[in-house]
Amino acid sequence: MSQTILVVEDEVGISRRLTADLVKAGFQVEQAFDGEEALRKFTAFAPDLVLLDLMLPKRDGWSILKEIRKHSSCPVIILTALSQPQQRVTGLNRGADDYITKPFYGEEVVARVKAVLRRSPRILENPGTRQYGSLKIDFQAHAVFLKGVPLSFIPRDLSLFLFLARHPNQTFSREQLITEVWGLDYKGSERAVDLAVKRIRKTLRAWPKTEGEVKTLRGLGYQFCVYQE
Ligand code: CA
Repeated sequence: MSQTILVVEDEVGISRRLTADLVKAGFQVEQAFDGEEALRKFTAFAPDLVLLDLMLPKRDGWSILKEIRKHSSCPVIILTALSQPQQRVTGLNRGADDYITKPFYGEEVVARVKAVLRRSPRILENPGTRQYGSLKIDFQAHAVFLKGVPLSFIPRDLSLFLFLARHPNQTFSREQLITEVWGLDYKGSERAVDLAVKRIRKTLRAWPKTEGEVKTLRGLGYQFCVYQE
């Protein structure tokens, strides 16, 4: 499924040009031409990234950024004619992920969008309970069910699996998994991750591969892949 970018820009020509470049690069685009429309569409479309102009009718970009940051870590790239370094610092301090000054090349914008999306993976912020085909994961209760039957993991494997499952379709190296899940003071080797994944797969063996799996990405690490939500 392609990722959605919300383009917030009141100059129709610029918005149209950006939209064309992003669509060409394979993104889905929603446009907003003033501050209120921006917040409405942010809520309605839950975009993967926002390109945000600062000078806008009705509400300025700063107040939109502030509003977005109250509830969301969705990446925001500020787009503006204000090129003073101070503006740039302010933008980044207020929670923007990047800053592009006008005039810009469409290719540069697309490249920056891709770079920010790569560094800002989707995290399930309030996952609660998730259903992936016949697999149900209750993140609050730390419980996993397959067709309603609870699966049992040893605690260390469970924390590894829940971590991967909170970041669906995202790859982690063994080293990252050790640091993120088991902590810096963990003394075991990276081989321990392989063994844990092996046990996790065994526990999940009745989960149809067509719905999802814990995948090995050779030379990179592991990923909780989901094909069906
Ligand atoms: Ca403007």
